[in-house]
Amino acid sequence: MSNPLPDSGYGELREALRDLCSRFEPAYWQKVDRERGYPEAFVEALTQAGWLAALIPSAYGGAGLGLAEASVIMEEINRSGGNAGSCHGQMYNMGTVLRHGSEAQKRRYLPALARGELRMQSMAVTEPSTGSDTTQIKTVARKEGARYVVSGQKVWISRIQHSDLMILLARTTPLAEVKKKTEGMSVFIVDLREALGRGMTVRPIANMVNHETNEVFFDELEIPEDQLIGEEGLGFRYILDGLNAERTLIAAECIGDGYWFIDRARHYAASRQVFGRAIGQNQGVQFPISESYIELQAADLMRFRACALFDAGEASGAEANMAKYLAAKASWQAADMCLQVHGGFGFAAEYDIERKFRETRLYQVAPISTNLILSYVAEHLLGLPRSF
Ligand SMILES: Cc1cc2nc3c(=O)[nH]c(=O)nc-3n(C[C@H](O)[C@H](O)[C@H](O)COP(=O)(O)OP(=O)(O)OC[C@H]3O[C@@H](n4cnc5c(N)ncnc54)[C@H](O)[C@@H]3O)c2cc1C
Repeated sequence: MSNPLPDSGYGELREALRDLCSRFEPAYWQKVDRERGYPEAFVEALTQAGWLAALIPSAYGGAGLGLAEASVIMEEINRSGGNAGSCHGQMYNMGTVLRHGSEAQKRRYLPALARGELRMQSMAVTEPSTGSDTTQIKTVARKEGARYVVSGQKVWISRIQHSDLMILLARTTPLAEVKKKTEGMSVFIVDLREALGRGMTVRPIANMVNHETNEVFFDELEIPEDQLIGEEGLGFRYILDGLNAERTLIAAECIGDGYWFIDRARHYAASRQVFGRAIGQNQGVQFPISESYIELQAADLMRFRACALFDAGEASGAEANMAKYLAAKASWQAADMCLQVHGGFGFAAEYDIERKFRETRLYQVAPISTNLILSYVAEHLLGLPRSF
């Protein structure tokens, strides 16, 4: 089949990413997945090429690109068959420092992150007893002299073993003492090289995908006060500010997955002969591929709308949420379709479909579950009464 799937612009950028990603063939990703390893060589190549520093302004040594370009980078990784979930945190976690950190923090961390000398791949928000209800978090940071002392527990915290720095959300004023439940939380930069084994312990969680994620326990972990980001008590707002970029980038990863599934499905459907003809000649096989493509194109448009608003400095919360919803749903639909088109071969590890199928499923749960997006739309866009 000669005609490739059409691209939505950014030709040179896509070419550069395709060139880099082509060095990491399916066998590479299969081996990493089988061994539950980390794609270190891939992440290093991406870092050295400067792509993970896309959103760091050039004044701090980054590429100074917009969210649209950053999203194309993430899309191309997944579209090539790779998994950007191994390193996407490095692209967006620094946003909290960039937007709300002091000049000293920016100078200390951003250039080193841009050069790849430091990795800030982790952000610790979720807790076992509170889940999506973030304002109820139990992890506390109490001020003692020139330091904060942290106690509590987090769960599902990704990429700690491949990070030097972690963003942490903790409560600094008890819930009972704040006017609004969103107040009284603060954000810190935790230097993992100092914290691990000295008040912070980590237990990996075996899970369905090859995604390094962990339970984290804080037992009187000391954090120097200059590691607080911005003002004490405003942490929840700072975290929310970062979510639009995160959701839009993850939407782009889902779009990359979706194109990969559709491409695989159409090639297989055109070549697999059963009952004396290509299976793709049957409309029962064709139509689900067409449907996936239509759904994915719609998600792609919403992704670029979210990027355009974000890059123009305008509110993009609604579009980022809707892009994430549409893209995660479309990529999952495409995954299911692709597996079905491949029949039994869809289950064979060497075809990669079962791996991508597992990987793309995650994004209807993390970093925000689909129901919470529906709830956001109901309350914030449709004016329906709050349910929680
Ligand atoms: C592989 C992986 C990596 C992750 N990485 C990170 C990370 O790096 N950092 C981090 O902080 N977190 C991370 N998470 C956590 C992730 O953000 C949460 O799993 C997600 O936000 C959902 O929270 P929960 O699992 O506690 O589900 P819950 O909040 O317990 O919800 C369970 C289900 O109930 C639904 N639900 C809950 N309340 C309502 C309601 N009021 N109305 C309708 N439906 C509702 C939810 O939509 C969901 O489907 C990760 C999770 C996974 C699986």
